[in-house]
Amino acid sequence: MQTQEMIRELRTKAGLSQEDLANKVYVTRQAVSRWEKGETVPSTDTLKLLSALFDVSINTILGSPRQLICQCCGMPLDDSMVSRETDGSANDDYCKWCYADGRFMYSNMEDLIEVCVKNMVSAEHSEEEVRTYLKSALPKLDYWKRYEELSDNGEFEKFKQKLAEEINELGIEGMPKVDKLTALLGSYINLEYPLPNGGTVKFLDDSATYLGTQLECEFGGDRYFGVAANMEFILVCTYGKDLEAPELVIYKKR
Ligand SMILES: [Zn+2]
Repeated sequence: MQTQEMIRELRTKAGLSQEDLANKVYVTRQAVSRWEKGETVPSTDTLKLLSALFDVSINTILGSPRQLICQCCGMPLDDSMVSRETDGSANDDYCKWCYADGRFMYSNMEDLIEVCVKNMVSAEHSEEEVRTYLKSALPKLDYWKRYEELSDNGEFEKFKQKLAEEINELGIEGMPKVDKLTALLGSYINLEYPLPNGGTVKFLDDSATYLGTQLECEFGGDRYFGVAANMEFILVCTYGKDLEAPELVIYKKR
């Protein structure tokens, strides 16, 4: 039995109307109606409430054990990739690249496709195949279906643009203009910079998410610029192939 049928059955057995159920689990009647039409699935928190209310397991409500996938990018989710709310609780609906610090990282499907394509192209799947697949798969995910409701009217997008402008205004020699920033996980970009005394220093938090990008140095020589930023600071560094020999260019409080 599928989730939609299961919810309807549990509800009617309990003698509840859609409105009654909605009130008991703090959602709108429309939300209940959408679950029962199979358009959406209750959120993790609501599933816990439903499970307690009907005294059945979450898996029962879901019809069968399911593989969680990020409802923004479609990536299969295992425990290490699940996003967190600002209070540290897990949000099973999204991966930590798509949702971080209580914010959605993508407000534009094209941007997300560009990022995913780079990671998904392989010997078996050409860029064109991956692109075509994503264009058909992403619109079926919850985030994009509920985009009007979930998005912040482009506020975060505006912040990203402002941040890119601030970075460009630093006028760093040899660094091309930044036009797009994407979510990057601290643990992937937390480089150790050498200190004059022979020690090293790190500036980022492994578990935090930053906005950043990589750009090829205009002077060539196999050097790259790495940018990482958030509300508080902007960090620019350079490094060679595979993040070798990192050097800090600037670390500036905003
Ligand atoms: Zn995702």
